[in-house]
Amino acid sequence: MTLRLYNTLSRSIETFAPADGKTVRMYACGPTVYNPAHIGNFRTFLFEDLLRRVLRLHGWNVLQVMNLTDVDDKIIKRAHEQGKTITQVTEPVVEIFHADRRYLRIEDAEVYPTATGHIAEMIALVERLLERGIAYKADDGSVYFAIDRFEGYGRLSRLDTREIKAGARVAQDDYTKENAQDFALWKAAKPEDESTGAAWDAPFGRGRPGWHLECSAMAMKYLGETLDLHCGGIDLVFPHHEDEIAQSEAATGKPFARFWCHGEFLQVDGTKMSKRIGNVSTVSDLREKGISASALRHFVFSTHYRKQINLSGAALEASIEAVARIGEFAHRLAEARGGTRELAAVAETAELEFRTALDADLNAPEAVAALFTFIGQANAELNRKGQDVGSLERARATFQLMMAVLDLEPRALRFVVTGDGVSPEPVAEQGLSEVERRQVEWAVGRLRDRIAARQRREFGVSDSIRKEVEEAGFAVKDTPGGTVLERYQ
Ligand code: AMP
Ligand code: ZN
Repeated sequence: MTLRLYNTLSRSIETFAPADGKTVRMYACGPTVYNPAHIGNFRTFLFEDLLRRVLRLHGWNVLQVMNLTDVDDKIIKRAHEQGKTITQVTEPVVEIFHADRRYLRIEDAEVYPTATGHIAEMIALVERLLERGIAYKADDGSVYFAIDRFEGYGRLSRLDTREIKAGARVAQDDYTKENAQDFALWKAAKPEDESTGAAWDAPFGRGRPGWHLECSAMAMKYLGETLDLHCGGIDLVFPHHEDEIAQSEAATGKPFARFWCHGEFLQVDGTKMSKRIGNVSTVSDLREKGISASALRHFVFSTHYRKQINLSGAALEASIEAVARIGEFAHRLAEARGGTRELAAVAETAELEFRTALDADLNAPEAVAALFTFIGQANAELNRKGQDVGSLERARATFQLMMAVLDLEPRALRFVVTGDGVSPEPVAEQGLSEVERRQVEWAVGRLRDRIAARQRREFGVSDSIRKEVEEAGFAVKDTPGGTVLERYQ
């Protein structure tokens, strides 16, 4: 089976395979670590997670680099305002990024290089561009890239529709989408750069790297001069990726990336959100609302990566329901002792549909549909109580393969509450954030109130407490051993 992907460079869907036939060398632009990443950023990182899992489904190794932009205009501004160094600003944000990413079960990239850890590589790249006469030092002390000295400038973003202002200079990292201008590779040090620890010595003057330069230098260091795949959100096409191509290709004379893949935006529609979900924006907001990683993954994968999604309460509620069905099915498959012969046939068809959908430019919504068709048909077969163990194993393998890519099976954290207390005690080691731990403690307290209410035969009170706890994002189950409190991830 062949994988077909939309390549922004050619504006068409092409067959993808790594250049060496074995390892996909993939670069994904990572977060600028001055604020915790929002769900929009994570939509892009989830698209990249899906992509790497599909690449592995094809049997290729993946060598993925995701940079952490830990020096840029916004970070320096924040550090300056707070009287901190840039590292003091970025370090806690990097921690939060990884915690959020792990919560969402976004697989680890192989390398997470930081910009400040690769200043030498960036300086070397600027020197190469200066030697080739493509970069120049301006009277403001900064080094700029002369876009009219690089023939391919504008190929990715189809710049012919924009105004080219060669010689007009822009020092910000992220500039207007309409005008292409000579952009800063290296920015002369200002007092706030010095005071925040964002200035380095270079042969062409003390200063700091521009954002675009950071990615070119780190991508080529870890992945070589021509990458298989470079991805990011759609907003990065211009200027960021256009400028990455210019710097890299002007220095090496080789194509920088064979494929450019961009994910569309997630919009937040505050007005249409349900009370339960509220105005969510970060992963920790979602966690506080009891929205599982599985539900968010389902929500994101229910729309094709090249289409916009609107974050709405109704859609998240639907995803919560959908992943609960997946959880029930997983449980049923695990408990079953055998299946009908037809179960194997159902699994085989579902797997083919699943792979076909993903191979067609990562059509995740169709892959999710294939999963639910499988669940429906397999449930019907399991109702028939067959004895065939091989058939059951086949169905389990199909489900496992689907989960290896989509990873939508909810994981339950389980606590048993009795009149005497709770087991186990909620602790951070269970993967609970600080807020979640406090929420579990609150829910345990409420369930103990409920046990007391039931002993007083106040069943109306008992029911309303149950509802209150469920609305906070927990599942409540009464068992002979006590009340089971579950939280899904
Ligand atoms: P940044 O931290 O701003 O450099 O962005 C990190 C990644 O998130 C980039 O790939 C952006 O393109 C992407 N991104 C930013 N906002 C959104 C959004 N609302 N929806 C999807 N991706 C986004
Ligand atoms: Zn980048």
